[in-house]
Amino acid sequence: MSNFWKLDEAGTKLLEKADEVVRDVIQPLAAKIDEEGRFPEENIEAMRKAGLLALVSAKAVGGHGQGLRAGVAVAERIARDCPSTAMVVIMHYIATAVIEKHGTEAMRKGIAQPGKLTTLAFSEFGSRSHFWVPVSTATKSADGVRLNAAKQLITSAGVCDIYVWSSKPVAAEGLSTIWAVPAHSSGLTIPKPYAGLGLRGNCSAPITAKDALIPEANRLGEDGKGFDVMMGVVLPLFSLMNCAVSVGMMGGALTRAVSHVTNSKYSYDGSKIADLPQVRGHIAKMQLKMDMVRGLLLDAIDAVEQGREDATLRVLESKLAGAETSLEVHDLAMRVCGGAAFRKDVGVERFFRDSRAAGVMAPVSDALYEFIGKAVCGMPVFG
Ligand SMILES: Cc1cc2nc3c(=O)[nH]c(=O)nc-3n(C[C@H](O)[C@H](O)[C@H](O)COP(=O)(O)OP(=O)(O)OC[C@H]3O[C@@H](n4cnc5c(N)ncnc54)[C@H](O)[C@@H]3O)c2cc1C
Repeated sequence: MSNFWKLDEAGTKLLEKADEVVRDVIQPLAAKIDEEGRFPEENIEAMRKAGLLALVSAKAVGGHGQGLRAGVAVAERIARDCPSTAMVVIMHYIATAVIEKHGTEAMRKGIAQPGKLTTLAFSEFGSRSHFWVPVSTATKSADGVRLNAAKQLITSAGVCDIYVWSSKPVAAEGLSTIWAVPAHSSGLTIPKPYAGLGLRGNCSAPITAKDALIPEANRLGEDGKGFDVMMGVVLPLFSLMNCAVSVGMMGGALTRAVSHVTNSKYSYDGSKIADLPQVRGHIAKMQLKMDMVRGLLLDAIDAVEQGREDATLRVLESKLAGAETSLEVHDLAMRVCGGAAFRKDVGVERFFRDSRAAGVMAPVSDALYEFIGKAVCGMPVFG
C-alpha cells in the first residue's frame, strides 16, 4: 500500500490490517448490510479482533496511541467499501478521543482493553443540528446525576457500550456539559429503530433519557465547559474524519463506475461506454474532484498537527468540501452508469444514497458556508 497519508511505521501496519479486514469481512457484507438496514456487527467484531477499535486509545491504557492521521486513513479505506461501517468507526474514534482526554484511567482502560464501542450523542430534537446548545438536562440527585433528553439520529444507538453525551450544565454558567453515559443505564430507551435513506447500517436512531442515572464522576471536563470539548476535540476530529469518509465514498463510487463503463458494451459495434469521450470527461472530473478534496484534507491534517494559524479554517473547509464535492461526484457516478446505476448489483446507488448524509451531519453544510464566510470576512466565526 502506498503511504499516501504519511503514516508512521505503526500506523502503516494498522492501515494494512484495516485493509485486510475490509477485504475479508467488510466488503463482502456491505451490500447485505445496506439491504437489511442492520448494524454491521460482524464488521465491528472483526475491527475489535484486529485491535483496530483501540486505534486512538493511548498505549498506556492498552491502545495503539494513534491519532487523527491514522483515524482518517482507516476511515477512508473502510468507506471505499462500506460507508455505514466507516461512520460507526469514526464516531467511536471521536468519542474515545474525548474520553481519552477527559475520562478517568479506569474508563479509558475499560474501553481500550476489551474493545468497547463508543459514539457521540449530541444531536437533539430540540436543538437539531445546533449541537452546541443542547436543551436536554442533567440534574444532581442524592445518588448521582439524572439525565433527561430526546436525542435524535445517534449512530450506533442501542448497540454501542458508551455514549459521549451532551446536556445543559448542572449548575455552572455555559452552554453545555459532556458525560460518559453507559448504554445500559436505566431510563435510556430507543423509541424507534433507524430506517434511513443512506448509511442504513448505522443504527442512527433516537434515544430518550427519562431520569437516566449516571455517576457524577462520569462527567467529561468541567460543568458548563462542554463547548470547549466540542470545539477542542470533537470539531477537528469529526470534520476531518467525516471528510475522509466522503473521500473514501467518492473512491468507492469511482471504482464501481469505471468498472461499469469499461466493461459494458454496445453489442451492435462492440464499443464500450468508456469509448464515449463525454463519459471519460465525467470520469476525469470525478477523479479530479476527489483528489482535490484529498489534497485539502491532507493539508488540514498538517495544519492541525502543526498548530497552524489557519487550522480551524482548513478543518471547516474540509468537512464542507468533502460533503459538497461528494454530492457532485456521486451525481456523476449515477450519470455515467445511466439506467444501470439504478440496479443494486452495479453498486453505485448505495454510495449515492450514503453520500447524502455528510452535508446534514452537524455542522451542516449551510452553517459551514456561514462560518467560513465569517472567517474570511474577519468576523468571529462562532460569535
Ligand atoms: C446518518 C446520520 C447519522 C447521524 N449520527 C449522529 C451521531 O452519531 N451523533 C449525533 O449527535 N448526531 C448524529 N446525526 C445528527 C446530525 O449531526 C444532525 O444533528 C442532524 O442531521 C441535523 O438534522 P436536522 O434536520 O434536525 O437539522 P436542522 O437544524 O433542522 O437543519 C435543517 C437545515 O436547516 C439549515 N440550517 C440549519 N442550521 C443552519 C445554520 N446555522 N446556518 C445555515 N443554515 C442552517 C440547513 O440547510 C440544514 O440542512 C446523524 C445524522 C445522520 C443523517
